[in-house]
Order: sequence, then C-alpha cells, then structure tokens
Amino acid sequence: MPYRLKDGVYLVEGATRGAILDTNSGLVYSVNGIACQIVNYRSENNTYWGQLVQMGLAETCVSSPGISAIQPLKDTERLKFVWFEVVTDDCNECCEHCYAGSMPRTYRKEMGFAENALQELIAQPERKKMRHSDWLRLMKEAYDLGCRAGQLIGGEPFLYKGENGETLLDLAQYLVELGYTRVEIYSNGTLLTPEKVKLIKTLGVHVAISLYSSDPSTHDLVTRTPGSHAKTMRAIQWLKEASVPLRVETVLMKRNQETIAETTALKETLDVVGRHPDPLRPKGRGVNPLLQPDFEYVVRYGLMLKPNFTAETDTVSHYSSGHSCLLGKITVTEFGEVLPCIFSHDNVVGNVLVAPSLESVLREPVLTRIWRATKDGVMVCRDCEYRYVCFDCRPLSEGASAGNAGYLTAPYPRCTYNPYTGEWGQGLWKVDELGYAFYDRTLAAEIQEVARTMSESVTAQVAH
Ligand code: SF4
Ligand code: SF4
Repeated sequence: MPYRLKDGVYLVEGATRGAILDTNSGLVYSVNGIACQIVNYRSENNTYWGQLVQMGLAETCVSSPGISAIQPLKDTERLKFVWFEVVTDDCNECCEHCYAGSMPRTYRKEMGFAENALQELIAQPERKKMRHSDWLRLMKEAYDLGCRAGQLIGGEPFLYKGENGETLLDLAQYLVELGYTRVEIYSNGTLLTPEKVKLIKTLGVHVAISLYSSDPSTHDLVTRTPGSHAKTMRAIQWLKEASVPLRVETVLMKRNQETIAETTALKETLDVVGRHPDPLRPKGRGVNPLLQPDFEYVVRYGLMLKPNFTAETDTVSHYSSGHSCLLGKITVTEFGEVLPCIFSHDNVVGNVLVAPSLESVLREPVLTRIWRATKDGVMVCRDCEYRYVCFDCRPLSEGASAGNAGYLTAPYPRCTYNPYTGEWGQGLWKVDELGYAFYDRTLAAEIQEVARTMSESVTAQVAH
C-alpha cells in the first residue's frame, strides 16, 4: 500500500539521522537513518509507515506516493525591520563590553585607551554623518519599501540631536506618523525624564532597557559609570508606572555572572519581559576574552543542550529560504553605513549617504546573499537535520571563530549537537586555524556536569 507524509509534514535528512517536521502540530521528531531511507522510498517497510500513520504523520495515498517539498517563503525581498543607530560613537556610559565601542566624548579625548585611538582613526573629521533630514528621508524610503518596524538605538539614542535641535522623540514621532506599527527605543534609560516617558506613552512607542545587575555596584562596574544603576532603575519604574511596553535585557559576562540569578529574579519581581540572559557576543569591546563569562555560566545560559525545536509553517518556510534572523533586516549607522545586523559593524554592505537610494543598497548582491543565507551554507549545520528549525546568529558565529571562518560559514558556537554522530552535550563546535570545524570533546565533562545540576537531559528525543 503506498504511503506518503501528510501535507505539512517534511523529512529533512542530516549526515546520520533525520528530522520529521510536523508543521500541523509543531512537533519535531528525530529519526534514524533507516527511517530516512523508508520515508524517502529508498527502502520498504510498511510496518514503519503504519506507525507514522498512527502518529498522524503519514497517510495512505491512492495516487503515486512522493516526497513533499517545503514551501519556500514568498516574501524574501521586502525590508521588514531597520535598526536606526542614530548615535553610533557617543554614549553617556562606557560599558566595558559595548558592541559598538561607544563611550562619552570626554572619555575618548581624556582617557587615551588604545581603542580610542582606533575610534579617532575611524571617526575622521571629514566623515559624513546623517543629518536630521537624512534620517527622515531614510525612514520614509524604508516605509515605502514595506518596512513597518524599527528600533532607535545607539550608542545612547537619547543623545541624538539634529542640526536644528531635533530630538530622538521627534524621530520616533515621525516613524509613528509614517505608519510604522512597531517602534522601539533601546536605551540605558539614564537620560529619561517623566516628561519624555509621558511622550513615549502618548506615541505608543516601546522601550527596551539594559540592566546588567540587581546589584548597583556590579551594574556600575559594567557601565563604568557611577550612579548609573540608580538612574536605570528609576527609568524602569517610570516606564512601568506609565504602562509603556517595556523589556529589560541583560548581557551575561564575567563581571555580572555571580549576580545573574538575582538579576533574573529581580526582573520577575518587577514583572518586566526580557529574554533569557544572553552570554556576551564577541563584538566591539566584547572581543576581550577576559570579559567572557565562565564556561559554567555559558553552559547554563547559552548552550543548546538538547533538541528544543518547533516546526511552525512560517518558521520552516523562512529558515529554508533565508537567514533565520537577518532576512529583511538592516542597520543604518549615524555615518549612513548599512549593516546586516547591529552586531556587524565590520560588515558594511552599503552607505545611504552615497547610494542613489535605499532600494539600491537593498539590491546589493552582498546583502541579498546575507538575507538568503540559510544553514545549508553553514559549516556543520549544513549536515544537520534540524537546519530548517534551528535559529542562527552570524555575528556570534563569526566572532567566536576568531577570524578562522567566514561570516556566512562559521559554525554556530553554542550548539552541543554533533550531526555526524547524533550526540548531544558531548562537546562544542569550534574552528581550527586552518579553517576546519571540529567538535571539542574536552568540554564534555563540564557540559554534562552543569547540565546535571540543571536537571536537563542531554539525550535526543528519538521516535524510532
Ligand atoms: S546549530 Fe547547527 S548543528 Fe546545531 S542543531 Fe542547529 S542546525 Fe544542527
Ligand atoms: S544576527 Fe545575531 S546579533 Fe544580530 S540580531 Fe540576530 S541574533 Fe542578534
């Protein structure tokens, strides 16, 4: 009797195993190589097909059986999101890990850090900056190209000042008036005032705030700015009282690792949304290895220890057609540079101050290649059966490979899965100096030890 996978159910084969993606239920099943052969009609086994029918994954068919292909995403050209990095270099804080290398101007002049010398070199006097009218034009062009969501970010975006005294909230208001349906300001919160919060609320703008620790002195050590914790907490309070949609985010690093549990608990008490603490990405000043959290904390907060995937129709189409995060997104800096991601300052793909239009930058082959980059091009992931349900971060992967692998090819450094053996939790993917990916098994004992304390199983879910 001929069988086939039901509509919306797909088999993705990896190096040794396969994954059945059921977009009808959202479940992902890990299956072995023999099951792959049966489902792909390379060998016969009606008993196995019968099991799949019972599980609601397959059906008998009157016409000829066949493998259904994942539907590609239709909308791969549209601009969907812009990070408007309205202030790139300047900040009123000087966080030790800043991805943009931002800091107060006075620091740059007075402190004479080695990184400041570099900044001076980059920020040459003749370097053209976006004027207020350039930002307005860009926002309108992006809107006309279909973009409806944007984030105003820096440096510290509240330091933005147009040539005629225009403020950040003037830019936010313009985005709202244009018809952007989601506008967010990402700030350290220290320059907020009750009046600004009131206007933010009236505009319907969202806010995201960085809070590094529940402990004031730890937070201030991260920001290298005494008194910053009190100001950030005050802003959070004002925003909450005004019921402004708010998220509070925490980067996990060496400096705050010991207070990370308390910080997470504080956020729960405050009832503010935010992602899981995110281990520091090696970008900007964050490339300093001394800032990285201890491996125990990386395991606890950052590693993929077991398959935890869902197979939604949109996700599977998206991840098999373009990059899981970068597709449809750009960053524009205060110098007009266009980047694929806010964390990709070394990957300039164009400049809106010199290009004839934003649209022409979006059509640059280099950006198209990034937008359309699936895990089929990533080392190791290309051989993994989870590649169309697994999230990816290119700046993180490239940064972790320390120059030994490319932006689009570096393996994902937080994955403990080995698609060549089917094991979870036995190592991590790294790149050697010759550019080859290897599974570093020397970390297995520590990964397993921490995983045990988290009561996590690191064994794959196997349906066959
Ligand atoms: S990161 Fe790559 S290797 Fe790891 S589960 Fe995802 S797709 Fe597979
Ligand atoms: S690519 Fe990475 S760093 Fe950039 S937005 Fe996505 S997850 Fe964040």
